[in-house]
Amino acid sequence: MKVVYTPAHLLHDPHTEIEKGTVHSPFEHIGRGEIIREVLSADSRFDFQLPTQWGIEPINAVHDSGLERFLTTAWQEYQDAIGPCREVTPEVFYSQALRNKMSLGTEPASISGRLGWWCFETTTPLTEGTYEAARGAVDTAMTAMQLVLDGEKSAYGLCRPPGHHATTSLYGGYCFFNNAAIVAHHVASTRGVKVVVLDVDYHHGNGTQEIFYDRDDVMYVSLHGDPARAYPYTIGYADEVGAGKGRGSNINIPFAARTGDDVYVNALADVLNKIHAFGAEMIVVSLGLDTFITDPICDLSVTTDGFRRCGELVKQLGLPAVVLQEGGYDVDKLGINVQSWLVGLGA
Ligand SMILES: [Zn+2]
Repeated sequence: MKVVYTPAHLLHDPHTEIEKGTVHSPFEHIGRGEIIREVLSADSRFDFQLPTQWGIEPINAVHDSGLERFLTTAWQEYQDAIGPCREVTPEVFYSQALRNKMSLGTEPASISGRLGWWCFETTTPLTEGTYEAARGAVDTAMTAMQLVLDGEKSAYGLCRPPGHHATTSLYGGYCFFNNAAIVAHHVASTRGVKVVVLDVDYHHGNGTQEIFYDRDDVMYVSLHGDPARAYPYTIGYADEVGAGKGRGSNINIPFAARTGDDVYVNALADVLNKIHAFGAEMIVVSLGLDTFITDPICDLSVTTDGFRRCGELVKQLGLPAVVLQEGGYDVDKLGINVQSWLVGLGA
């Protein structure tokens, strides 16, 4: 299987995150990408290549162009306006309720105001090289997509930073640009075919859902920890089924804590029937391995062998598959878990 990887991910190098009332070492860090690279590059079934450059057009086809513009300069603007600061995080978040009975407002002038305008939470600091790394993750995803369009049965993009929490106009949840949504939109809009995004990360991909919620050419299917207890808390419930012509093209499957291999794999098998019925011609997998039994921030109980079974099920769909890295925070096991899933898929 071809693997697309770029060392540009090393440029997004947070040393802290603000989470659960503390400032601590980030769960999302450069070691995640490097352990996956080490494990896959030691396995002759995987063949590495660098991404090609795709520019900002595919990003702005999905995101508000203001988000990309903001991220281009935000870290440096903060240094210039406020002072030296290794990692930049908002202090104030924009909410429509702040302007109740008024107009919705416009992007603020100050860097502090703009941070809260474009970001929705505190665990996603901007570092000096974040923008370049986020661009590299999009190029990685697009290059994996091109390999599949050119005839590979599947390809894996080792995207870091991940993408599925990034909405049309907001970054957060360790995500800046929505790599999977950018690929799915590009294929659906340029090839005129139906695409499904299958999101198996522990966390609901609120950004991907939001981007495609009213569309009938891209189906979004997510299996995740129930947002009644799990990030992102406000979205990801089973009754969110799509809107307008997209009604029926959004499927959320929330799981109880400690859900293990058999329940998880059976739920995936059920939903693959719905994907088949949708008539998709390509599948984009948002591959998170934070459903793993010893993940430090999640509470499902999928095992390394369970990941192989999931990959095998997706292989049985018979669709060309673009697999893109999302979460997974048991770093010691992250490489072998990715490997197991991809071997199941037929690497
Ligand atoms: Zn996750």
